[in-house]
Amino acid sequence: MFNVDNITRKNIFSLIPYSSAREEFKGEASVWLDANENPFETDVNRYPDPYQTELKKALSRIKNVDENQIFIGNGSDEAIDLLFRAFCEPGQDKSYIFPPTYGMYEVSANINNVETVRVNLTADFQLPDSKEIIKAIDSKGLLFICSPNNPTGNIYSLDAIKEIAAIFSGLVVVDEAYIDFSNTTSAISLLNEVPNLVVLQTMSKAYGLAGLRLGMAFASKQIIDVINKIKPPYNVNTLSQVGGLKVLKGITKVINQINKLKIERTTLIQSLSSISSVIKIYPSEANFLLVEFEDSDKIFTTLRLKGIIIRNRTSEIKNCLRITVGTPEQNKVLINAIKEI
Ligand code: PMP
Repeated sequence: MFNVDNITRKNIFSLIPYSSAREEFKGEASVWLDANENPFETDVNRYPDPYQTELKKALSRIKNVDENQIFIGNGSDEAIDLLFRAFCEPGQDKSYIFPPTYGMYEVSANINNVETVRVNLTADFQLPDSKEIIKAIDSKGLLFICSPNNPTGNIYSLDAIKEIAAIFSGLVVVDEAYIDFSNTTSAISLLNEVPNLVVLQTMSKAYGLAGLRLGMAFASKQIIDVINKIKPPYNVNTLSQVGGLKVLKGITKVINQINKLKIERTTLIQSLSSISSVIKIYPSEANFLLVEFEDSDKIFTTLRLKGIIIRNRTSEIKNCLRITVGTPEQNKVLINAIKEI
């Protein structure tokens, strides 16, 4: 039986958390002299809500999940780091990843002195066979599944996620940073049946708020409670909470932009496929394309000289570049530049 207490780092389990002023008194008051703030009122002279109540209420409705099953962080990168700090005993527990994938999992593991075990994706970027995964697992810790995967763009089935969660005694972290660009159901729908699951999402991509730094983790209340216990007291600033809420209240604008970007993704695929130096365009359920060129370094450096910046992924996947889907105008500039090269 999975029990969160058994996978929580020992010192975190016994930690007495910091109790902030805004946590100790939450009600209405006329005179606030408890937090050593500057008393002259502006929009930001007071500390923010430590638990982002309004933002969680709105997210709870949109994502169909209880408020107490949501953690909001300073980007989902903060959630990744807090998961390591809460659930990995340094030098003992391990992190399991399926490369090529998002680089931050391994960096965060290294920062926290946690060893990373790499089990490569198959040649067509599918998850490795479960026998191979079982063979590689020899500890608890964190296992990351990025779906849709960065930089390959493909998604993994909920059945595959369930199967892996059943063979791992630590936490399975499904990173859905790009899920809004996919037609597949979110792994949030598995939370009630998979106790060792954490789903990460972000407002940096589809929601257009990369600059505000708003990332979410969805999990059981027990897991969220542990993350809340160790998070910096005021980890999401007031302007980000207000900005995030504004976007959630106008969610149709976000949906319209997502639909436009999906159409633009198809147009970009069509334009790229007519270029002779393009060898392969990988199918994508994200807002980027992984594209193999005859000579990716030449395309990458020449585009950079023209002021067009894309991501070179050739060190991980030979001759591959990752291209974010832009506006129709930006994509035309890109395509014309590649044609000139
Ligand atoms: N996960 C993946 C797969 C990403 O690609 C990124 C951003 N590059 C993140 C998480 C981090 O997102 P955030 O801006 O919320 O920290």
